[in-house]
Amino acid sequence: MNSPVPQPSADYDSLTLAAREKLFAVAAGYLASQQLMQLERACAYAFIAHKGQTRKSGEPYITHPIAVTEELAKWHMDIETLCAGLMHDVLEDTKVTFEDMKQQFGNKITELVDGVSKLDKFEYADKQSHQAASFRKLVMAMTRDVRVIIVKLSDRLHNMRTLGGVQKVAKRRSTAQETLDIFAPIALRLGLNHVYREMQDLAFVNIYPQRYHVLQKTMAKFRIDYQSIIREVETKFSDTLQYYGVEARIIRNEKHLYSIYRKMQDRNKKFEQVNDIFGFQIIVNKFLDCYTVMGILHSIYQPDIKRIKDHIAIPKSNNYQSLHTTLRGPQGLKVEVQIRTQEMQAIAENGIAAILADSKGSIQRTQNWLQTIMDLQHNSADAAEFMENVKTDLFANEVYVYTPRGKIITLPRGATPIDFAYAIHTDVGNHCVGAQINGVNVPLRTKLRNGDQVHIMTSSYGKPNPIWLDFAVSGRARSAIRYYIKSVDRQNAIALGEALFNKALLSLLPDEQRANLAKSHYCQQYNLPWNEVCYQIGTGKLLAVSAALEAVNQKDLDKRVKLPLTLDTNTANRVHLAECCQPIPDDAIRVVMDKQHGLTVHREDCVVLLDSDFEQQFEADWRYLSEDKKRYDTEISVCARDRHGLLMAISREISEAGGYINRVESIFNDAEQLITFNFELQVSNLAQLCRITQALSRLDSMQYVRRIGDNLI
Ligand code: MN
Repeated sequence: MNSPVPQPSADYDSLTLAAREKLFAVAAGYLASQQLMQLERACAYAFIAHKGQTRKSGEPYITHPIAVTEELAKWHMDIETLCAGLMHDVLEDTKVTFEDMKQQFGNKITELVDGVSKLDKFEYADKQSHQAASFRKLVMAMTRDVRVIIVKLSDRLHNMRTLGGVQKVAKRRSTAQETLDIFAPIALRLGLNHVYREMQDLAFVNIYPQRYHVLQKTMAKFRIDYQSIIREVETKFSDTLQYYGVEARIIRNEKHLYSIYRKMQDRNKKFEQVNDIFGFQIIVNKFLDCYTVMGILHSIYQPDIKRIKDHIAIPKSNNYQSLHTTLRGPQGLKVEVQIRTQEMQAIAENGIAAILADSKGSIQRTQNWLQTIMDLQHNSADAAEFMENVKTDLFANEVYVYTPRGKIITLPRGATPIDFAYAIHTDVGNHCVGAQINGVNVPLRTKLRNGDQVHIMTSSYGKPNPIWLDFAVSGRARSAIRYYIKSVDRQNAIALGEALFNKALLSLLPDEQRANLAKSHYCQQYNLPWNEVCYQIGTGKLLAVSAALEAVNQKDLDKRVKLPLTLDTNTANRVHLAECCQPIPDDAIRVVMDKQHGLTVHREDCVVLLDSDFEQQFEADWRYLSEDKKRYDTEISVCARDRHGLLMAISREISEAGGYINRVESIFNDAEQLITFNFELQVSNLAQLCRITQALSRLDSMQYVRRIGDNLI
């Protein structure tokens, strides 16, 4: 197609006219005249918007977007992309508004321009490679339409082409490095191989001008040295293919300088040692011809068996397809040959652009292509809809935001400043008191969006709020908040409960010693550790006054004060500790005469006592020397939701509290996914056992911890 180029519709200057002419020469090759009219409208619109602005080189600014668009036209991009290319800097750098552009050019084009402007707002500050990867993901995630990235790549390519001599050295280097880290890999990912190569070489010359020029000179000499051989090889190829009647186009090919440089650097090689600097592409008509050509070539020169690759059968991740073989040519010159069809060639050079440009091309192929490179599952049947939907859903579950220092933090989608704070550090999260997004104060529940810059305000008084659990989404934040609340709340509740209980008790029983006794009997009566009683009072499950009343009104409180039998180390050796309830020091106990064992100690609430004659029971108390190291058997039952590392965590808590494990037995409840462990332990006294049970009940997924022989009455 060669459509008539429309007349200029604005008062262009001569430089702009020249640039415009070049653009339209390319565009007229494949666009209809109606579309060229629209292109002219966009051109005039951008020209007027940029009027008075100049590039660093002194040229009118508009020549830049026109050149960007000319490149896009060379890739045969659709009219919408071309219009966006012409106006890509209009929203950002001129007074024109989104609304105005939308009125003139419609939603689609304006959104493409807006997408490019948004991408430009992000800075890539960090030079670390993993940050580069995050930034590339950010760029992809930010982009609803893959055409935005294509415009951006063309924009960057033109900026790189015109970088030399205009910008300061430092700026040139940083732009070049950014191109190398960010944009060249994106180009490769999208299969825009020629853009990838050119960007790399342009970056190379700007970062290491000296090395580039040395390599360029070496290359030029090498080219002259091998000129005749290359020609000889080429002639041999074309003659032989003709002889066999295979129609093919032979393209001479040279490795680009940056890739030679990298090969030398990475493998510590000299220039002469780098293989396949020269090569050929042989483009055939039919798929099967690829294999025929390879067979023919192998009959001319000996192939390197290790370097034969079938990327037709197994395409590369960016959908590149080709056969590769490296031949030993005359004088030992290694020649790499890539053999592919016309169709494969278009994708090899232009990747996704080739597919987007080929509007009549197979939609199925387009989809396969993107599925391969982006692992997308797409069912849209319509190519246009499909293009719009290429919003790189592969990153949909993540959001990328910045720290004030430009570091990129990756968070789950829906993340809030709280998640961000905990991602920085647990302490930052625990002391977070406020947040700013892009310099504006926001509520902590605000959802972060790609590219937000987040600043967390902390204070030494700040502490986690249970309400945060309503909106924090990252596992790290949620578990840190839960952990904090669990530990701090419990401590607070215990302290509060203790104060309330003591106050209530002392008002009823103003004798501290007897009050303490009442307390310990109360604990024993309910078989709860002191801390647990206080915790229940502190959390309102138990009323301090009623607990105190009950403690004081225990019938035999005064009777117990007079203890008839004292067990000390000596007597304890002579009495038997009942297996049914396994009493340990400081348990409330009674002693009975047992025909089999003689004096037998039971816990006061043991069922066995119910069956024995009350008259035969003695009250008793433990009086132990503190240095006593004797250990007593006891058993606990621990029930928890099964999880990885559970038994280890339990065992650690037990031994950290000073307990010994003699034996453990486990019972698994499949239906409820609960596991119960029965531990046979050795402990020194009740206090130690309480420490163990408390530590265990604080563990994650714990259902209950019970002492064997408990709640028997
Ligand atoms: Mn630009």
